Order: sequence, then structure tokens, then C-alpha cells
Amino acid sequence: MYELAASYVAGKWAGGAGAETIAVRSPATGELLGTVGAAGPAEVDAAVAAARAALTSSPWCDASPADRAAALGRLADGLAARKSVLADLTTAEIGSPRSWSTFGQVLTAVGVLRAYAAIIPDYPFESTRPSLAGGRVTVRQVPVGVVGAIIPWNTPLFIAALKLGPALAAGCSVVLKPAPDAPLSIGVLTEVIEESGLPDGVINIVNGGAATGQALTSHPDVDKVSFTGSTAVGAQIAASCGSQIRRCSTELGGKSAAIVLPDAPLESTVSGLVGGVMGNNGQLCAALTRILLPRSRYDEFCTALTAAVEQLTVGDPAARTTDIGPLINEAARDRVEGFLRRAHAEGATILTGGERPAGQGWFVRPALVAAGNDMEIAREEVFGPVAVVIAYDDSQGDSAAVNIANDSRYGLVGAVWSADDDRAAAAAAQLRAGSVAVNSTAVLDFGSPFGGFKQSGIGREGGPEGIAGFVEYQAIIR
Ligand code: NAD
Repeated sequence: MYELAASYVAGKWAGGAGAETIAVRSPATGELLGTVGAAGPAEVDAAVAAARAALTSSPWCDASPADRAAALGRLADGLAARKSVLADLTTAEIGSPRSWSTFGQVLTAVGVLRAYAAIIPDYPFESTRPSLAGGRVTVRQVPVGVVGAIIPWNTPLFIAALKLGPALAAGCSVVLKPAPDAPLSIGVLTEVIEESGLPDGVINIVNGGAATGQALTSHPDVDKVSFTGSTAVGAQIAASCGSQIRRCSTELGGKSAAIVLPDAPLESTVSGLVGGVMGNNGQLCAALTRILLPRSRYDEFCTALTAAVEQLTVGDPAARTTDIGPLINEAARDRVEGFLRRAHAEGATILTGGERPAGQGWFVRPALVAAGNDMEIAREEVFGPVAVVIAYDDSQGDSAAVNIANDSRYGLVGAVWSADDDRAAAAAAQLRAGSVAVNSTAVLDFGSPFGGFKQSGIGREGGPEGIAGFVEYQAIIR
């Protein structure tokens, strides 16, 4: 049983008198895994003050880029050393299949932190250029300041790393707020922070839900808000930051397309497609949830996809043979079932899945739905193990698929499958999406920018481009 206080401030857990307590339960069994306090305005205030102090009166103010790179390397080492414990814990608290959590939850976080440690030495924190008036301009990239970082529950360590990596690389300090459904693995992160030797206050944590998040995003001494979560909440936060001219970046939802071109090989494409949509029980922002099939091969692919989805093992996420664990909570299970009911009512065909298995836990069998791109199930983020197949007219060329893929308010990622890499890459370049994989589902490269077009967000994390979101540019002209 884990018992975490409401906040971790300047290197110490602090309770907060009368703080509300949040119970963290296994989504597979309902078992109580731990409790965490909920930080109120006083705890948030203390965390922001500690983060400010780290920037003004701690060794962090003078940390060189090389020092920051070394600190990120130590954070990565600390997470890697706890790989199994953290994978077990994320499997318990989120229901990520254990076969997925080591890489999907923990090593992705390690990879991001190591990538930043490697990027920093070549990053142009200071550069000089001739001024147009004949003199010289030094362009400095200075830390934006105190960062309020808000993360969702579905991949907590990974998203935390996507914020800590560039923020610390830039020299900022951070107040991190995990989601109330998944605070435990972030609790273990504090051990890693302590071991890393980072000065107190560089990374602080406030536990809690929306009210804690609001206290953080509206705190007058937060310089920048970095939010990852749903588009609806991201819109509220961006509006509130906008009214205060507070820097804000958002990584939001997706309804990403996987385009199958007519020459794509059946077997490898189908296995990639199923992995691309069902990873983490379909609870991934980057899930490739709209599968666009050429009409000339529609039946062949639907049959193979249906068989592949039916072969997935649903059950105890801790079992190594499990492919699909539970949804995060009862509301998420009900939401997914609601989407499937409405899809059926709208005229979509449920090719397989969608049933609720007997027994405990918030499980739904993985579903494949044949639908039109105008139906709700093809337009809204379901956030569960549900793939939609949509036919396109391949006699009209690859652009017929590209047009459907781009007909979405989201634009996070995409993928294109073809026997010809160049043909797939040409279609990929036409997609209005932040990253696109060719013949794979690898939509994230640790050293490259990640983020969305359209309502999938504003800004990028990952790669050198991610650091740009955590600096102010200053020109010294002489
Ligand atoms: P959510 O928007 O409900 O919550 C995200 C975080 O915001 C949580 O910590 C929550 O407590 C906090 N929060 C909620 N209301 C708030 C408010 N008014 N002010 C401040 N903070 C508030 O999202 P979720 O259910 O935790 O996560 C799932 C969503 O996250 C999906 O839409 C998914 O696509 C998205 N996501 C996006 C990315 C990406 O990189 N684009 C990555 C992972 C998840």
C-alpha cells in the first residue's frame, strides 16, 4: 500500500492539514493500491515558491548546460534502475499490459531523458550573428522560469519526461501535477530525483485533480504552463493562460489515421495496425484509431483484421500473455460502451468485440467497427480498444485516402503502409499531422519533435524543438 502526501516540495513530502485524500485502485480488480493527499492552494503556493527559489537562490541558477545534461542523465539512470518496479506499478495502477509497460511506460521516459542529455551539448543556448546595423547581436535562450506541468494518467512517466527533459535542459524549475488516477509511479520518481542530486525545489510535485490543476495554472508566479491531456481541458487552460499572457503549450487528443495503400503487404500491415491502435488498451493519444482501407482490398483486410483482433488476449494486465487490460475506470468503460452503442445506432457495423467480459474490472473486448468518416466514432477520441475501418476509393489515387485522413479536427500523428517506402513517404508528407510513421507504428522518435496540428495541441515536445518551448529569446545588440 502506497501512502503519499499531497505535495513534494523542496525535497520533502508535505501533508497539508485537512487535505482531501484520493484512493488509487487497480482498474483490473478494484483493490486499493494506495492513497494520496490532494494539494490545495497553500500546497501549490509552497511548491511554486520552492520552484522560484530554485531559480533564484540555489546552485541550479549557475548550472551550466553540461551540468543540466548530467542531471538528466542521472534521472534517466535512476528510472532505468527501477525499470521492473515501475513497470509493475504502472501495470497495477493503470492496467497497462505488463508485456507493454516496460517499454511503453518506463523505457520511453528513460529514452526521452537520455535524448535530452545528448541534445544539450550542441544546443545553441547562445549564438552570435551580425547586426543589420553593422554591429553584432548575441541571441541568448534563457529559461522561461517556473513551469507548471500537468500530465494525464495514461503514460505518466513518459509524459513527465517529455516535460522535465526540455524544461530542465532549458534551466527551468518545475511543479508537476500528475493525474489523480495515476500518481503512484510519479511518487517513485521522487526517489530518483533525490538520488540525482538535483538541488531542492528544481522538481516539485502537487497531487490532486482539476482543482489542484487550476490552482497551479492560475498561480501568478508560474511563468509557463505545459499541459498534456484532453482537448476540452486544454482549451480551458489555454484560454485562462491567454487572458494572463502566460506562456502555454498543449499536447492534446487525437483521432489519427493509418493509411493502407493498395500495394501494402497483408500480414505485416495487419499486425502493425492492430498494435498501433490497441497499445495500452487503446488509451494512447497517438493511437492510430482510423484505419483507411483501399476499397479494392477492403474485404481481405477486414477479414484479417477481425481475426487478429479476436486473437488478442483480454485479462489480468499483470499476466505476460495479456494483450488488453482494463480501461482506467468505470466512467471510461461506460464512455467506450456509449460510443459503440451510438455507432451502431448511426449505422456502423461492429465487426467484432465491444462486449463486457464477465468478472471484475473495467474491461471491454477490443472492437473493430466499420464506419463512415462522418460518424461520431470516426470523429471523436474514444480512448479505448476500438479501431474504426473506413474504405476509400483507391481508383482515385492515394490522395483519396489522404483527404479522409485530413478530414478531422485533430492532427496528432499518422501512419502509411505500402510495399514502396517512397510512395508511403509521399503520402505521409501530405498529412496534416505532427508525426507520421512509414510502414510502422513508431510515431515518436526520442530526438525529434512530437506534438499536434489543429486541435491536437500547440507546441512541440521532444528533440531540440522541445527546448524552444521552455526558453525566452533575448537579443543583446551592440
Ligand atoms: P484530462 O484532460 O481529463 O486531464 C489531464 C490532466 O489535467 C489531469 O492531471 C487532470 O487532473 C488535469 N485537469 C483536469 N481539469 C483541469 C483544469 N480545469 N485545470 C487544470 N488541470 C486540470 O485528460 P486525461 O483523461 O487524464 O488523459 C487523457 C487525454 O490525454 C486524452 O485526450 C489523450 O489523447 C490526451 N493525451 C495527449 C497526449 C499528447 O501528447 N498529445 C499524450 C497523452 C494523453
